[in-house]
Amino acid sequence: MGAASFSLNARDGKARCGVISTPRGDIRTPAFMPVGTAATVKGMLPENVRATGADVLLGNTYHLMLRPGAERVAQLGGLHKFMNWQRPILTDSGGFQVMSLASLRKLTEKGVTFRSHIDGMKYDLTPERSMEIQRLLGSDIVMAFDECPALPADRTRLNESMQLSMRWAQRSREAFGDRPGHMLFGIQQGGLEQDLREESAKALTEIGFDGYAVGGLAVGEGQEAMFGCLDFAPDQLPEDKPRYLMGVGKPADIVGAVARGIDMMDCVLPSRSGRTGQAWTRRGQVNLRNARHADDPRPLDEHCSCPCCQSYSRAYLHHVTRSKEMIAGTLLTWHNLHYYQELMEGMRAAISEGRFASFQTDFEAEFGSGDIELL
Ligand SMILES: [Zn+2]
Repeated sequence: MGAASFSLNARDGKARCGVISTPRGDIRTPAFMPVGTAATVKGMLPENVRATGADVLLGNTYHLMLRPGAERVAQLGGLHKFMNWQRPILTDSGGFQVMSLASLRKLTEKGVTFRSHIDGMKYDLTPERSMEIQRLLGSDIVMAFDECPALPADRTRLNESMQLSMRWAQRSREAFGDRPGHMLFGIQQGGLEQDLREESAKALTEIGFDGYAVGGLAVGEGQEAMFGCLDFAPDQLPEDKPRYLMGVGKPADIVGAVARGIDMMDCVLPSRSGRTGQAWTRRGQVNLRNARHADDPRPLDEHCSCPCCQSYSRAYLHHVTRSKEMIAGTLLTWHNLHYYQELMEGMRAAISEGRFASFQTDFEAEFGSGDIELL
């Protein structure tokens, strides 16, 4: 297997455009990764997710280790084969979801013990086990195992947690070993504290990773605080490696993060919103459950080339959403993923052509303009 690498092709202000090359294909950055939590992007066939422009999917270690189990996936030929997605997959380390989903968690220096939210079975998750699970799944981009404290948290707690995550980062690096063609990303912690973030970045850089995530954000601190932290956090990380902001976000969060030097993002929002009748368009969020769409023969977005907008009216989307038809989630997820990928493509082109600032201004004006007028 060949090596995996990252090359930067263009810079515009702090925004960057590049390519992560892996043996399973290239990932164009800035990249948005749809979330395939339980080995599926809910309601979508993999080839259709690919057709929206996605180069890489995210899989969740926590969910997959509980069901169907990492050893079973490995036995069946790995996650790519299992879920019929042959392009790159990034997996998280499981740490964040243990903290948000599992019960009876016990945190020690060694790792986390918890009970499954599915059947109450007891599990251990350590840096070593997380690396093993992600290897069994066959993940192309592996995340170091870390601890993510909920915000707000006091400085003492943030510092202790960050120090623990750095010791776990070292153990993750050792357990990952040398795996050509696969990448291991470290995760910066430190809450909103600039000096803790700096210390974390130094510790990670010393260990040496193939990419670096800004962790511990998008956990309820709000956009202003998140952007405040992103004004310095990405600058503390190595310039020649990809920078990944985990769990973000809404379209405006994504554009703001790219403007601050972030290269990769993931979020359940386009697919989760799609399943609850919410669409994201160039003109902001649209709720298809709203009665104003009941007689509207127009597409969701007349300028969108996705199958949902090409062939279905707002009236139909309103009807299938209200009737809880399966196709409602599929059509709206399809549109949302298409919109997100088009936004990424627009940013990559703007950065390459040195016009990112005007792209951002136009995006904000149009996004804030609200949905089209009633007929
Ligand atoms: Zn569309």
